[in-house]
Amino acid sequence: MGYSIAIDGPAGAGKSTIAKKVAEKKRFIYIDTGAMYRAMALYLLQNGIRPEEHERISAKCKEADITIKHVNGEQVVLLNGENVNALIRTEEVGNMASASSINKDVREKLVELQRRLAASTDVVMDGRDIGTCVLPQADVKIYLTADSSVRAKRRFDELTAKGEVCDLAKIEKDIVERDERDMNREISPLRQAQDAVLVDSSHMTLEEVTRTILDLCDRKR
Ligand code: C5P
Repeated sequence: MGYSIAIDGPAGAGKSTIAKKVAEKKRFIYIDTGAMYRAMALYLLQNGIRPEEHERISAKCKEADITIKHVNGEQVVLLNGENVNALIRTEEVGNMASASSINKDVREKLVELQRRLAASTDVVMDGRDIGTCVLPQADVKIYLTADSSVRAKRRFDELTAKGEVCDLAKIEKDIVERDERDMNREISPLRQAQDAVLVDSSHMTLEEVTRTILDLCDRKR
């Protein structure tokens, strides 16, 4: 088992940005587990499956071969051998990922892959259930959150910077809905692990959050 840092939290808390920074500083591998649920969701959408079709999801998810590799420090997600990074960042895929991630077969398959990856190397892994389920023995556990209005504004700024026209109120509504679903599902709901450190980034800069996590790692050594 390598050294592992688990970062969990709700949508838009900045987990991936922070996890990437921490991984860079520690020279660990960054593993974005949300991207795996997104790749699975893409596969289901490509096969015409709707979020409520639980049995079809259970059957179809077995056919999806999801793996990751790292190219120049960037995580590339492969779905049946094809790089799908450019296809998984849409709201449609995000919503399907949230809906299909309640499925037991989907979770079992992806959790196994995540554990296998962490067994062989030092990792920073982010998601919803890393500290509670995937890596309960993680060396450092962080629960990263921020007010939903702050998270919505960050996502709004990100999308606007990319030239997309979007509605702040609608983004916040989507975020709150996704939180609700992630926190209230039966299997591995999003929740702070007992031994996780709560970091509320509502009034913190990226650098402050990164420093806080690195300090925690130093103290745990
Ligand atoms: O983090 P991201 O928005 O990419 O995740 C998409 C969805 O995948 C989440 O809303 C959540 O439902 C699901 N997910 C999960 N467990 C994880 C990571 C993501 O259920 N470890």
